[in-house]
Amino acid sequence: MKIGFIGLGNMGGPMAANLVKAGHRVAGFDLAAPMPEGVTASASAAEAAHEAEIVITMLPNGAILRAVADQVIPAMARGAVLCDCSTVDVDSARAVAEQAAGAGLGALDAPVSGGISGAAAGTLTFMVGGAPEAFDRVRPLFDIMGQKAVHCGASGTGQAAKICNNMILGVTMIATCEAFALADKLGLDRQKMFDVVSTSSGYSWSMNAYCPAPGVGPASPADDGYRPGFASELMLKDLRLSQQAAESADADTPMGELAAALYARFVEQEDGKGRDFSAVLPWIAERRRP
Ligand code: NAD
Repeated sequence: MKIGFIGLGNMGGPMAANLVKAGHRVAGFDLAAPMPEGVTASASAAEAAHEAEIVITMLPNGAILRAVADQVIPAMARGAVLCDCSTVDVDSARAVAEQAAGAGLGALDAPVSGGISGAAAGTLTFMVGGAPEAFDRVRPLFDIMGQKAVHCGASGTGQAAKICNNMILGVTMIATCEAFALADKLGLDRQKMFDVVSTSSGYSWSMNAYCPAPGVGPASPADDGYRPGFASELMLKDLRLSQQAAESADADTPMGELAAALYARFVEQEDGKGRDFSAVLPWIAERRRP
């Protein structure tokens, strides 16, 4: 298949490389990142999209996605599919899908979970919004780049799934860190705390699979000096997207709002930038009750 790939950074680079390895012809464009081996460099986003049956974008945010869509959509052949895998706001995802449909194109919002290691290993999970026909067209590529693709519904529902998932993740990580900090001050050993909670009703992915306490539970960024992993500023980005969506849908999300405020403080006023999002534990453990 002929594929255009725009945005070949930490995630897009290895995803495009996996498509090439599977035998697809990939034309790539990025403002800065180098082309992975086997990806043909294009001079512009429009050139990468020209003649492609499927165009994949993996970009930093919704504003950039909208700008790239303006260049790419007029260059695409009717019937082709524009598949955005970035994490962006639901409104941008829906606006781009509508613009694509107006030009006779299919469109999907297909954000991913699994991080840089999942992108390299081809084990991402895709959560996908858009028409079933477009989903079926792109599915063989999801199967190469990932291990699971869930069709969530109409345009925007892929992004909705992503930000709801990550809102839960942010909230449970903070709750897990708070509980460790309290346990410390109550004289409860962290390993004992893990042994109890990981098999009791307080368990979660944050505790069981990504434990924020160094030396406790399976290997995680906490065991590597809190090197990301999943950086705190990316968690902040996703929590802010959840709050933007909650506002536009008139949904009350008090815990999500608190989590966004806490990560904003951690990233912007403390030393959270560039550290894994589980580094909230050493920060909160040092604090006293206000
Ligand atoms: P990145 O910054 O490494 O890559 C983005 C790339 O887009 C960069 O190489 C940049 O040069 C390029 N770019 C920016 N503007 C462009 C333009 N106008 N035209 C062409 N290229 C342009 O970021 P990333 O870590 O690869 O993340 C990409 C997306 O995936 C983000 O939306 C992020 O939230 C999401 N995501 C990231 C992870 C992760 O662990 N890194 C996990 C899940 C989802």
